[in-house]
Amino acid sequence: GPVIGVLALQGDVREHLVALAEAGAAAARPVRRAEELAEIDGLVLPGGESTTMYKLAAAFGVLEPLRRRVAEGMPAYGSCAGMIMLADKILDAPSDQETVGGIDMIVRRNAFGRQNESFEAPVRFEGLEGLDADAPPLHGVFIRAPWVESVGGGVQVLARVESGPAEGRIVAVRQGNLLATSFHPELTGDNRVHAGFVRLVAEALR
Ligand code: GLN
Repeated sequence: GPVIGVLALQGDVREHLVALAEAGAAAARPVRRAEELAEIDGLVLPGGESTTMYKLAAAFGVLEPLRRRVAEGMPAYGSCAGMIMLADKILDAPSDQETVGGIDMIVRRNAFGRQNESFEAPVRFEGLEGLDADAPPLHGVFIRAPWVESVGGGVQVLARVESGPAEGRIVAVRQGNLLATSFHPELTGDNRVHAGFVRLVAEALR
């Protein structure tokens, strides 16, 4: 079966490993080095702190290999800080912060502002198998979360904030084999997003 890695430089790695196992991934393992990156069929970039994650990725020499594998079509899923890592462009980040990129979108860090730095809201997903519009909403956990400021033509919007001051903001996207959410399904015990990603990895191998 496919082997799915979780980028284990910083962030909620353990939670993603558990969610992947519960979602039916045959093998899920932490990935820190370029050699380990070569052995996986898909990668999760966890929630955490994207500035630190970027610095460690560069220091560990995995940033370039990761960019290469993503450019070659390896499936990847980023939650929160992981979403920032998969964005081609970022706002409200230190000027020297780089990303892996791959998704043609502009992502704003800490976008929901101080008053609402962390909140929870139902999220209706569309366009991922097992998570169509009729499915019960996900419980969205947003922790100093980014939002997607804008997307290019090849990017599919999977979910938006449904109410409140941020209504309409994009919080989940897909471009080909790349998936990203502003929120943290790995913290909820609802593993439908991970299950969708596991399926996506399996399909990419065929
Ligand atoms: N604010 C964090 C960042 O900029 C993301 C927060 C999270 O992953 N929960 O990387």
